[in-house]
Amino acid sequence: MAKQIVMLGPPGAGKGTQAKMLAEKLGVPHVSSGDIFRENLRAQTELGRHAGVYINRGELVPDDVTIAMIRERISRRDCNDGVLLDGFPRTAAQAEALDEMLSDLDKGQVVAVAEALDEMLSDLDKGQVVAVPCIIVPEDVLIERLTGRRTCRAQGHVFHIAFNPPVQAGVCDFDGSELYQREDDTVETVTNRIRVYHERTQPLIDYYQQRGVLLEIDGNRPIEAVFDGILSALTGV
Ligand code: AMP
Repeated sequence: MAKQIVMLGPPGAGKGTQAKMLAEKLGVPHVSSGDIFRENLRAQTELGRHAGVYINRGELVPDDVTIAMIRERISRRDCNDGVLLDGFPRTAAQAEALDEMLSDLDKGQVVAVAEALDEMLSDLDKGQVVAVPCIIVPEDVLIERLTGRRTCRAQGHVFHIAFNPPVQAGVCDFDGSELYQREDDTVETVTNRIRVYHERTQPLIDYYQQRGVLLEIDGNRPIEAVFDGILSALTGV
């Protein structure tokens, strides 16, 4: 297990999009806790059914369940050279568990660091959360983005009814599957998710800020501009 990047930002900040782009650029797996929960929900696994109750209310899934899931995922081989975590940790308990996991996983393991990541973050320690890009977007923009979001059933491709509409309404441009509104993208649930973010995740932002690894990114810009902002913040680390 090598260097870790944790992407933070409120729901709708564009974390998922940016995290995927960044993971690709760095050659490390993109591990999104929300995506894993949704896959389990679709497959109706026990984990999915359990998590679904919380997700559909806009609440956080309990820490023990979430931590066990991430522990299992990042202990797989493909994370040996690093991983980009999207949506985890979201609470102080999860952040502590992550630090523990990283030191456990490191034991006796040959650490190879993904090259691109290593170049960018050359001065920092291995086996730690070393950079935390935090995407900042005003609340009214978040609500507009989330309530207009449509997601593809087959593979989770993301569109927006106004800002990034598909060629044919309700149909995914990439695989032709149906586009749907996530149950947690309704106005009521979105408002609750943003409230939960402020309550639960703000302490984490403070925690990473104190460690000097927080990188604030203006997310109220076009996708490419935000991505450039993240890359230059990381390179400057
Ligand atoms: P996301 O796609 O990251 O917005 O996550 C969607 C939902 O999944 C959240 O509103 C939570 O209910 C749940 N979830 C995702 N990540 C976590 C986490 N780290 N801890 C607890 N719940 C989570």
